[in-house]
Amino acid sequence: MAKYAAALDQGTTSTRFMIFDHHGQVVAMDQKEHEQIYPKPGWVEHNPLEIWERTQEVIEGALRKSGISPKEIAAVGITNQRETTLLWEKATGKPVYNAIVWQDTRTDKICNDLAAEGGQDRLRPKTGLPLATYFSGPKIRWILENVPGVRERAERGEILFGTMDTWIIWNLTGGVHVTDVTNASRTLLMNLQTLDWDDELLDLLGIPRAILPQIRSSSEVYGYARGALEGVPVAGDLGDQQAALFGQACYDPGEAKNTYGTGCFMLLNTGTTPVPSQSGLLTTLGYKIGNAPAVYALEGSIAITGALVQWLRDNLKMIENSRDIEGLARTVEDNGGIYFVPAFSGLFAPYWRSDARGIIVGLTRYINRGHIARAALEATAYQTREVLDAMNRDSGITLTALKVDGGMVYNQLLMQFQADILGVPVIRPKVAETTSLGAAYAAGLAVGFWETFDELRANWGKDTEWHPQMSPELREKLYAGWKKAVERTFGWVE
Ligand code: ADP
Repeated sequence: MAKYAAALDQGTTSTRFMIFDHHGQVVAMDQKEHEQIYPKPGWVEHNPLEIWERTQEVIEGALRKSGISPKEIAAVGITNQRETTLLWEKATGKPVYNAIVWQDTRTDKICNDLAAEGGQDRLRPKTGLPLATYFSGPKIRWILENVPGVRERAERGEILFGTMDTWIIWNLTGGVHVTDVTNASRTLLMNLQTLDWDDELLDLLGIPRAILPQIRSSSEVYGYARGALEGVPVAGDLGDQQAALFGQACYDPGEAKNTYGTGCFMLLNTGTTPVPSQSGLLTTLGYKIGNAPAVYALEGSIAITGALVQWLRDNLKMIENSRDIEGLARTVEDNGGIYFVPAFSGLFAPYWRSDARGIIVGLTRYINRGHIARAALEATAYQTREVLDAMNRDSGITLTALKVDGGMVYNQLLMQFQADILGVPVIRPKVAETTSLGAAYAAGLAVGFWETFDELRANWGKDTEWHPQMSPELREKLYAGWKKAVERTFGWVE
């Protein structure tokens, strides 16, 4: 009898492999970063071959460190940075271009041209998404238009498209070309109702159907692994944010989580019908377990949160490690009157402004590095407040607490400030690796390693809870300053 379920998490900054026991506890893990490639301002790429190498290394690493053999693993689930897009040759597995990362804004013109007729929200009824550089469809089109010969070859059926889940599964299984409903729902090409690629959308974006993977549920056996995981069923596939929703046991309508990584992503389970957004959120797939009806979610996506901490570390050399930002921020009492709006990739939810760029406002000679560090952390909390307000408006449900996870939730100062700015408690679970856990759950459910949602719910336990301590007057005063700062970012680029 297999004792474990595993997950491969192909994230924006790193790839990790984690092995969980039946209680959802981590028993082994390995992780490796990959290169961030910035060829021009606004462009972000990854080398897909490097990512596949890192993937194999972390699988081998975790198995070696733990002494666990593939025979003890019931199934492996895949979870991934969403929207990041690549095209490769079917015959050789060679990418025709680097992967274009979700944060990349080069498809600005493509999106504006598509929005010229019918506006930015013209595809919302079918896809739940605004026309924005964030999503995969325009990135596919950019590669088809800009890499010589690729369009012709794509039409001849020689080229495959995939998001990172598809790329990993294709390589891991030796040629199974699939994605799941959650990843497909981020392309601007899938119809939210039919859960299939939509001819009208394919025509509009000029994308040949021949390159697209088959859309499957998030929990079923897609194929069997080769290599170090030889013979293990590959049986789960969820975009990282949906995997976190699943790992946080948000299985009932009205349950929500917020993940603090490179960006921040709040997802609210809305049950088996898609809820349209009037407030700049996305309507997206939550998960689909085998033949059960699909579950939908409302999502607030924020492009830059942890990435701002990385930027202070890498570009300004203000800190050596991301976690050092907390100490630096604690050297000052408050933000000293400054706000830092990190609109590095424009602004995502709830604004969807590709013309916005980052700013620091309110500078005086009094301001020092501590204030900048503090304002950078506060930016995460303010952006989350904007999304939570939108969520309450769109869903008609007032969230009374927020389950959180991701790399930034070990920052005590940030979590306390978050509770203060939201005015509701913030709760971190014992296993904060909810993204990997969710993917392992999906895979484990497909092969009977777990059988019910109740078993998964029972695995969830609270670790820390932060309660609001700030006065409502101060909260609203600070938040009003943020709103004013955000407006200053609009219209910086054409
Ligand atoms: P992803 O899956 O998006 O790569 P993670 O969940 O691993 O992200 O979180 C990593 C992000 O969190 C990085 O952007 C890093 O800068 C940030 N981060 C990690 N630790 C801290 C901390 N203690 N305080 C603030 N930010 C942090």
